[in-house]
Amino acid sequence: MTDSSQALVHSVIRRLAALFVLAIPVALAADTWGASRIRSAPLREARVLTMTPLAGHAVVEDGADDDRSESAVVLVVLDGVRWQEIFNGIDPSMARQRRMTSAEPANPRDLMPNLHRLIESEGLAIGAPGHGGEISATGPQFISLPGYIEIFAGKPDFGCYRNDCAPAPARTVADQVEDASGVDDVALVASWPNIARAASTAPGFALTAGRKLVARQDTLRADAATARLLDQGAHASAFPGEGEYRPDSFTRPIALRVLASARPRFLFVGLGDADEYAHRNDYRGYLGALRSSDEFLGALTETLHSMGSRGRHTTVLVTTDHGRAYNFMDHGPASPESGRVWLVAAGADVRGRGLVAAGRRHTLSDVAPTVRALLGIGEGDAPPIPEIVSAR
Ligand SMILES: [Zn+2]
Repeated sequence: MTDSSQALVHSVIRRLAALFVLAIPVALAADTWGASRIRSAPLREARVLTMTPLAGHAVVEDGADDDRSESAVVLVVLDGVRWQEIFNGIDPSMARQRRMTSAEPANPRDLMPNLHRLIESEGLAIGAPGHGGEISATGPQFISLPGYIEIFAGKPDFGCYRNDCAPAPARTVADQVEDASGVDDVALVASWPNIARAASTAPGFALTAGRKLVARQDTLRADAATARLLDQGAHASAFPGEGEYRPDSFTRPIALRVLASARPRFLFVGLGDADEYAHRNDYRGYLGALRSSDEFLGALTETLHSMGSRGRHTTVLVTTDHGRAYNFMDHGPASPESGRVWLVAAGADVRGRGLVAAGRRHTLSDVAPTVRALLGIGEGDAPPIPEIVSAR
């Protein structure tokens, strides 16, 4: 091989590598759904958020304590994902009833490897059975919009009984980050349009929720790949949702593009396919949605890895708006067990490691003060979850 042909080969390899990176969101967008799709994300060797895993101690890496302005939060809410699969894996009796193959991995680490890698090497989980105080939606509705309102406002809205209520006016954590850091530092990407009602009474920040609802088009469409995905999502079938729902297969890659291109300090990502499949009593579809959500978490970690100091100082929070009834399909006020949720936090500013035993019960109201504490805004507010971050 001559030098010039070697150079040509290297140049082609570089271009192919670049194309591969660009193709990831498209590949994610083209995800298919269904029972046959059983694919775990590859195990990653590289640790993105460099940490020394010492349970219960804040660990300071080189320079980590000198740049609070770079701190950021990505809050991912997986709608209606119950704690059982998160901590126990696939339910064997449900799998048997549905004649699912015995080759299905039942272990929670096989089901959601990226989530468990976050828990075990870079962060913690609250709400695991047998591990201290539980975390739950305050309720009493245990349906989505009240759950999202509680997450964003940091308190429940007892006047909201439905998924299409008009929330009581309240400053949300998104509004507060916008006030403290600027409109460009907040973004919301969600499959279910009604999440926008909970996020802000008057959002000025970039927002795409459901197939059609878009705010700050200029910001979102500045990235050509995001613009393409928004257009595709707007014309896609709503399945597994209905109406203006946008399937997660669009929401996931849009969220990754927005994170990398707009670099907001607070990004909210709302994925909803799991809840939609569960309401259809489609356990295979539900598990597929969990796997795809987990692949998203792996891609999210990769994206943060490519973002330098900002990525290293980003905390990833993953939770849900409600759990599920004993019958799996449902959730709501008639099923108080569906109030129980779970919370994962990972990143350089997260204190604990692994499945932690929370010292007291927590609720979704504790998420917003935790986001504020991680971002260093809103001192004197309700306290953050102490297992995640010390009160400042
Ligand atoms: Zn639901």
